[in-house]
Amino acid sequence: MSILVKGGLVVTQNWKREVLKGDVLIENGKIVSVGHAKARPDEVVDASGCIVMPGLINCHTHVAMSLMRSIADDVKLDKFLDKTFAIDAKRTPEDVAVGATLGCLEMARSGTTTFVDMYYSEDAIAKSVEEVGLRGYLGWTVLDEKFTTQKGKPIKNCEDFIRSHKGKPLIKPLVALQGVYVCSDETLMEGKELAAKEKTFCHYHLSETRLEVYEFQKLRGKRPVEHLAEIGFLSKGDLAAHSVWLTINEVRALARAEVNVAHCPTSNMKLASGGIAPLPEMFHEGVNVSLGTDGCSSNNTLDMFLEMKFASLMHKAHRWDAAVLPAQKCLDMATVDAAKCIGADKELGSIEPGKKADLIILDCAVPSMVPTRPDNVVANLVYASPSHAVRDSIIDGKFVLRDRKIVNLDEMKFLKRADVAADQLLARAK
Ligand SMILES: [Zn+2]
Repeated sequence: MSILVKGGLVVTQNWKREVLKGDVLIENGKIVSVGHAKARPDEVVDASGCIVMPGLINCHTHVAMSLMRSIADDVKLDKFLDKTFAIDAKRTPEDVAVGATLGCLEMARSGTTTFVDMYYSEDAIAKSVEEVGLRGYLGWTVLDEKFTTQKGKPIKNCEDFIRSHKGKPLIKPLVALQGVYVCSDETLMEGKELAAKEKTFCHYHLSETRLEVYEFQKLRGKRPVEHLAEIGFLSKGDLAAHSVWLTINEVRALARAEVNVAHCPTSNMKLASGGIAPLPEMFHEGVNVSLGTDGCSSNNTLDMFLEMKFASLMHKAHRWDAAVLPAQKCLDMATVDAAKCIGADKELGSIEPGKKADLIILDCAVPSMVPTRPDNVVANLVYASPSHAVRDSIIDGKFVLRDRKIVNLDEMKFLKRADVAADQLLARAK
């Protein structure tokens, strides 16, 4: 099966960050040429007046929480957590599946082609991912048994999930550790060993709030990253979400260990956890940073276009410096740098021959995208692009969104079902 995406403005995100007018040829799920193609493809897609770019990669979310959108807004973190946990406790396996499909649909429509998830019941989430046609890096949550409602041992559940989902084309299973506040050293090291044994990586929450760091320090006499470095937990290829409350020494420890960071600006701002992740220092020390939306209960969308914009604005405002986090860097964080964060920089993140065909097409015929030229296209994508400009999404060489229509399921019928499921969940939690 071959597809020729013809005549678009291609934002390649290759090492030269080339933007060129031309064609992208896809064959059997891979990009085979970029520029001017003379092939006779099975299908030609007209991309004139459109931007063709790599699909966005959301490096931290809890997709099944989409069913819990806007359930606890404008309240302090403790109230937010109380309400979220109370509703979460009433969730059925059906709610997980419906929430995951809802989140996958939102991402398919807003240009995300790959996401990293942290939750349990990832087997149900994997089904939603495959049904919609997204690429999911799915981490089964591991924590101490005394803190969880999971049936059985979390580490064993995670191992079973990894073994049963290894090698699937759209699923990459991984180990998710909830955070130092619910994971003993033993649990953390078991997770690390499992990831090494299964040739995958660990994803974890890290130093999201000041209180969490303060309490850990009070209990253990050290800051979380200092402790994790000391016990030998930090590993090359780890993906740490949030990473807000870090000292410069902790940033250096992450850089030394080659730990990647998923920065979640919207969630951090909305929960008013205070503090701003030290991104300029991370860049200076050589930490690779991507972006994540976090779950829908603290965001309340999974829109990576908004995440790029908010990231840039948050750091500019905080540093009194309009040059901090320029548009190109934000786009890198959502594409090439994100691919590196998940160990997939040879396969994903840019439009280059040999890479997997995960790309999106944005129609520039919307007011906020006019004018779009090669010299302003990146700024438009980060600061002006509404996610509804996404017209098509191709993942693994297959259409997932085509002419703004979800390809693999009846979206309207599903949305009605999700609305009913959300009402029923809220009623059970009352
Ligand atoms: Zn999270």
